[in-house]
Amino acid sequence: MLKNKKTTISVKDLVYPLFVREGIGICEEIPSMPGIYRFPLDAIARETRALVKLGIGAVLLFGVPTGKSREGSEAYKKDNVAAKAVTKLKRKFPDLTVMTDVCLCAYTSHGHCGVILPGCRTIAHKTTLDALCRMALSHAEAGADYVAPSAMAKGQVWAIRRALDAHGFKDTGIMGYSAKYASNFYGPFRDAANSSPLFGDRSAYQLGFSNSASAMKEIAADIREGADIVMVKPALAYLDIIREAANRFRAPLAAYNVSGEYAMVKHGAKLGLWNEKKVVLEIITSIKRAGADLVITYHAKDIAKWLKER
Ligand SMILES: [Zn+2]
Repeated sequence: MLKNKKTTISVKDLVYPLFVREGIGICEEIPSMPGIYRFPLDAIARETRALVKLGIGAVLLFGVPTGKSREGSEAYKKDNVAAKAVTKLKRKFPDLTVMTDVCLCAYTSHGHCGVILPGCRTIAHKTTLDALCRMALSHAEAGADYVAPSAMAKGQVWAIRRALDAHGFKDTGIMGYSAKYASNFYGPFRDAANSSPLFGDRSAYQLGFSNSASAMKEIAADIREGADIVMVKPALAYLDIIREAANRFRAPLAAYNVSGEYAMVKHGAKLGLWNEKKVVLEIITSIKRAGADLVITYHAKDIAKWLKER
């Protein structure tokens, strides 16, 4: 049932995605996502201090490695870029909730979300699960509060939960990218994380956009497997999915307001089509109104500033 109450946005509902790369020096702006940067490791704490000052309580980290390989082993090697960033942030901002994306697509030379063995064109499931578990463990060891598997490999939440528990990380939570659609709105993100697939697409392991029943099944499966937070991604074209998930499940529900949604707003504002602040607040309110508890959004920093001005 829709509750007839006024929906409001609080800075506490927001999660800010952060791209972090190896090295020092320049913060590289992502051309398709004005205002969003790939931060070198030496700049990540400075940026995060500004976020904490604005009241943002949670970030979602994406590592952008220097080297890629067929297996994506940079993702879980000792001192991988994401783990190094987690260590830095948890040391400086112990109260900040640090979440990490767990997927291989930024680390594999072919850009797919799992391991593809020589001579094959499809993902090797068991090898992929092992790699995802190793990646999640490296983030947990560094102090991540939540790991967020996004590879859409069957059983990934279950495998990661077992691996975390077996290594003494019972308190590390899991945010499942439960209902992740094979969306056309991810283009700018692939620019940001250098993660476009070299061949084929991801429709073999992400959901088709005409389907809602599968999304509910995937969410139910993630909850059974031990997810603490479930997610619908993208958000704006999937408000019905968010609403249905909010009605059906009690688990905290996150919605990912993705790169393409962000880019539309930014480029529209640049063309003078609309007032950016008004459009952003309307969109994020609609996502919350649909039933999301958390909104992962590249607009989080701007929203936090606007809420402070009020
Ligand atoms: Zn991926």
